[in-house]
Amino acid sequence: MSMSEEAINQLIANNPRGLVARAFNFAQRIHSGQKRKTGEPYFNHLLETAETLMSWKLDEVTIAAGLLHDSIEDAGVSLDALRKEFGEEVAFIVDGVSKISRVKYRGVKSKAENMRKLILALAQDLRVIFVRLADRLHNMKTLFALPPQKQKRIALETDEIYAPLAYRLGMQQVSGELQDLAFPYLFPEEYKRLDKLVPAKYEERLNYLERIKPEIETLLREGGISSFEINFRAKRYRSIYKKLVTHDWDIDQIYDLAAVRVIVKTVADCYAALGIIHEKWPPLPGRIKDYIAMPKPNGYKSLHTTVIGPQEKIVEFQIRTREMHEEDELGIAAHWLYQQAKNGEKVAPRRLTKEIKWVQQMRDWQETFKRESGTAADFIQAMKIDFLKDRIFVITPAGDVIDLPAGSTPVDFAYHIHSEIGNSAIGARVNGKIAPLDAELKSGDMVEILTQKNKKPSEKWLKFVKTAMARHYIKSALKIKKKS
Ligand code: MN
Repeated sequence: MSMSEEAINQLIANNPRGLVARAFNFAQRIHSGQKRKTGEPYFNHLLETAETLMSWKLDEVTIAAGLLHDSIEDAGVSLDALRKEFGEEVAFIVDGVSKISRVKYRGVKSKAENMRKLILALAQDLRVIFVRLADRLHNMKTLFALPPQKQKRIALETDEIYAPLAYRLGMQQVSGELQDLAFPYLFPEEYKRLDKLVPAKYEERLNYLERIKPEIETLLREGGISSFEINFRAKRYRSIYKKLVTHDWDIDQIYDLAAVRVIVKTVADCYAALGIIHEKWPPLPGRIKDYIAMPKPNGYKSLHTTVIGPQEKIVEFQIRTREMHEEDELGIAAHWLYQQAKNGEKVAPRRLTKEIKWVQQMRDWQETFKRESGTAADFIQAMKIDFLKDRIFVITPAGDVIDLPAGSTPVDFAYHIHSEIGNSAIGARVNGKIAPLDAELKSGDMVEILTQKNKKPSEKWLKFVKTAMARHYIKSALKIKKKS
């Protein structure tokens, strides 16, 4: 039994009528008899998702939503039923996850940013994204069971949408893991080559680091740092691959296959440790990075250095505090945790949700990004709250994301797809239900246009359309109509 599985059982045992216990039983019941493509019971997937959320130290509402996240899409439970059974918040999260799961990415780079924006716009509550990421992690681990074409699509979506999204949320570990899971499906040949090359080298590397570990410990202790932890971080395949490509596949050039990670108590200890290490082993020029004074755009903090260590071997160090370490692992989820701890348990969950609303987070990111130059500019542009406020993102039946101004209608949508579809529109289906052509669309709506041959647009449409494109086509079609 994994640690988190034990933890979940504990949680249920402690409170057998609590939210998590009820979600557990409910999910088990509604998915009973269903199987995953791997042949295991469907419920395993929900349990794995919930366990991941638990290991990210998220709250009970999120864990319950993790257990229930496929109840609408795959078990036909209604949103109302969820609301009645588990309350507004759980229902909101499950609904958000369901909407996001209907969006499919097919590798058109220009649409990737739209899709990431849609996901953020839909999420509103960041916990929707946490559940989706936990869901995706398990789906990637069982991707082998799907047909090759699906594998490719999902791996690509993971690599280009979810890994960058996790990275932007500061969840570097999750982002790296998702990329590594996608790698064999996206680059099968390169993966095979790497898999032959790396493990032995990595083993060798690890042995060396284990040997020098006592030396580092003594050094730090003698330097007056009393409390610290040392571990080794393996470099991820994906980043080794990137480096190998620039080094003509010479694995001996990749000297940071594993890095030494030193976790200390305070920021002052970080700098002290750096000094102690440099005093003993000379640093390589240009490899000292102070991400504490200047965090990475996604909030990453640490000191990095590469030194010529014992036996003239090159060793990479990462030095950070416990808090920085947790943030690196969990990103925004860690803030969530601190927020909860700070406010104590008496704070109503609803207020907490408001406090961490993605809008506020994006403001913070914008501040961080403003301090950075160049490459971040497009991110600021893309994430502008005003921009998002004035736009909606709707989905075609094929799962493509269409970006429209707020207040847009099915007619705007139809003309955005194609002028012919606009001209011949007679009705629309929004989220599977018949809707009038002047209905106001919302982010996440799935829109389908009903058409009839040889139809012409109505002059009335000009009163409600929002896009210049629709207006233009309607007017020109009407002129043609008047002539004939
Ligand atoms: Mn799922």
